[in-house]
Amino acid sequence: MTTTPPAFPASAREWLARLIAFDTTSRNSNLALVDAIAAWLDAMGVRSTRIAGAAGRKANLLFSIGPEVAGGVVLSGHTDVVPVDGQDWSSDPWTLCERDGRLHGRGTADMKGFLAAGLSRVPAMLAAGLKRPVHFALSYDEEVGLLGAPSLIEALLAGVPRPGLVVVGEPTGMRIVDRHKGIMGLRTTVLGHEAHSSQTHLGVSANMVATRLMARIVEIADRLAAAPQDASGFEPSHTTTTIGLINGGTAPNILARECSFVWDIRSASPTEARAVYDEVEACARELDAAIRARFADCGIATEILSDVPPLTGVGNAPALELVSRLTDTPEREVASYVAEAGLFERAGLPTVICGPGRIAQAHQPDEYIETSQLAAGEAFMDRLVEALCR
Ligand SMILES: [Zn+2]
Repeated sequence: MTTTPPAFPASAREWLARLIAFDTTSRNSNLALVDAIAAWLDAMGVRSTRIAGAAGRKANLLFSIGPEVAGGVVLSGHTDVVPVDGQDWSSDPWTLCERDGRLHGRGTADMKGFLAAGLSRVPAMLAAGLKRPVHFALSYDEEVGLLGAPSLIEALLAGVPRPGLVVVGEPTGMRIVDRHKGIMGLRTTVLGHEAHSSQTHLGVSANMVATRLMARIVEIADRLAAAPQDASGFEPSHTTTTIGLINGGTAPNILARECSFVWDIRSASPTEARAVYDEVEACARELDAAIRARFADCGIATEILSDVPPLTGVGNAPALELVSRLTDTPEREVASYVAEAGLFERAGLPTVICGPGRIAQAHQPDEYIETSQLAAGEAFMDRLVEALCR
């Protein structure tokens, strides 16, 4: 195919500037960014597939370069970024700004730098005569519970010959991360029965009941923390559970009608995570029965907001082998954050995390990627193209 790419960013840096300019904070639509990339691909004759979600306000984007054969490499990245609200930025977060070898902007590290490096090499991939394909898998709503990835992975597996491996380009400083913990995000809502707070016998305070249940979570958290550290490399190595948000009551002198709290369980072991959930749920069922016996409108319910499996590293040899070679990095590391990698692994695809930029700069005011890291991301893409031509 001989086509001239349209007037759109060519270098990784230009791509990064363009990608940063889209405010794809998770609460916003990401369609403008997705449409811009799709239109650019279109002009080069590359067909892309949008997988719509969030009532049509957002979309994943999937496209492949190279032959329609199995054994391709998936480059996975999320298009959304975390908010800049309340953060003190030295320059406009949506305008790429270079200072002292650092490219500042929201998403430069997490993870538009990786996307920029990949997109900048699309023309080279088209021209190279790849023997195995590259599949770009761009998701939405990663930062708010990895909501886009499941339908993206489903569409990927249904739409292309089985890929050989996945590289999730979260910022690792181009080191290889082959394990991360999983997370269950949960919201528990306790419904009580309102009454004047002097008349505690005439109602049920949702706050008081929720506190008992939260006390159980604290107990479990303490017990887990008392376990000796193991050699897994996770910091901390044990399963954790914690309560992030509590909302309850409307006035000091009313027995609260409603109390809800958002909590999470993070574990390297799906079974252990489930055991924590079951233990809290058993306690919730007991309390639920007790308050329902007093008033029919009382009750306790827990909603699973997200359930992301850990990346265990089992069966990831093909991904490790290739990415080690491309980065000259034999070492493997673990990540304390959650990524889409666990979902790809659960789908049976060998997966590692490796991308430019550093996690320490992600989500921060004045987020940046070092120009040397962006260059390392580009070098990775160049070597990938070479490897896939062999
Ligand atoms: Zn990220």
